[in-house]
Amino acid sequence: MTTDARAVLRIDLGAVVRNWRLLCARHAPGAVAAVVKADAYGLGAAPVARALRDAGCRHFFVAHAAEGEALRDVLGDGPLIAVLNGFGGAAHPRLSPVLNSLADIAAHRGPALIHLDTGMSRLGLPPDELEALAAEPSRLGAVDPLFWMTHLSCADEPDHPLNALQAERFAAVSARLPPAPRSFANSSGLFLGPEFRSDLARPGAALYGLNPTPGRPNPMEPVVRLCAPILQLRDIAPGEPVGYGADWTAQRPTRIATVALGYADGWPRALEGRTTGLLHGARAPMVGRVSMDLITFDVTDIPAAAPGDPMELIGPHQDPDAIGAMAGTIGYEILTRLGRRFRREYQAP
Ligand SMILES: *Cc1c(COP(=O)(O)O)cnc(C)c1O
Repeated sequence: MTTDARAVLRIDLGAVVRNWRLLCARHAPGAVAAVVKADAYGLGAAPVARALRDAGCRHFFVAHAAEGEALRDVLGDGPLIAVLNGFGGAAHPRLSPVLNSLADIAAHRGPALIHLDTGMSRLGLPPDELEALAAEPSRLGAVDPLFWMTHLSCADEPDHPLNALQAERFAAVSARLPPAPRSFANSSGLFLGPEFRSDLARPGAALYGLNPTPGRPNPMEPVVRLCAPILQLRDIAPGEPVGYGADWTAQRPTRIATVALGYADGWPRALEGRTTGLLHGARAPMVGRVSMDLITFDVTDIPAAAPGDPMELIGPHQDPDAIGAMAGTIGYEILTRLGRRFRREYQAP
């Protein structure tokens, strides 16, 4: 038995750093930031950002000012910390806001990134405000533009016509604006053509091992491994049901392993009947419903299974992208929902 019957999440910081370096090599001479919003996609903003800073990363993006303030305490002075959602009127002298409208610009003094909406209709200056600013750059007022930035909406679909359109619009409008560095590609954008290069790419997902080129081999190194211990083994007869709703019934004499992980740990209920765990090098199908703290596996064909053994749930046999696809979502959501109850082990770079 393990002494601590909790799931273990292993995060390979060396792999994060190698992923960042790979993206740097692709994007040179442009720089590459690290998007560490939502606690570095659930992996831990402090250890991830520290490792990347030590590797030479100078630009970090978060969504909320509170995330940025916490990150500043971790990183110390020096690196740029940009807040994608802006400051909402509050003052954060240690952070750089991303300004998303002419009203944001009018309300701010000093350095800032300025987000230009080139086709996502989400955040950023909409087309009429872009036009007004390009026609009358004095509307920048007391704002000193650090970067003109825009965000791709379909970068994970290389053939989507909106990619080229956004590149065209970004080039056209930034040529009319006062000169400042430009920030364009996210993870998938780094794998599109040269027109998506800029002074600063902003990848998140690819740093954490998600595939920026869906449908093609993943160029990134895996970062996350999740193992949860077997709490109990139970031998049941054909016809015996397992779990809530008696959704699954044994068809043969069956050994069931009950594992300490559930939907409260971010393992989606939608995975019922879909995933496998890896145990002693063999795959065990997950059977029955996902409950709050427990899931069950058919380990009949793995005679070595024993209480305390770690069942691998995320790893090379089943990566976060694959789990997302099985759950009807994306790897991003699987990572950002990873629970707070795991023991987290960070492998130093
Ligand atoms: C989240 C985000 C990114 C990072 O996107 P990935 O697909 O994870 O690389 C970049 N830019 C903006 C504006 C974002 O919101």
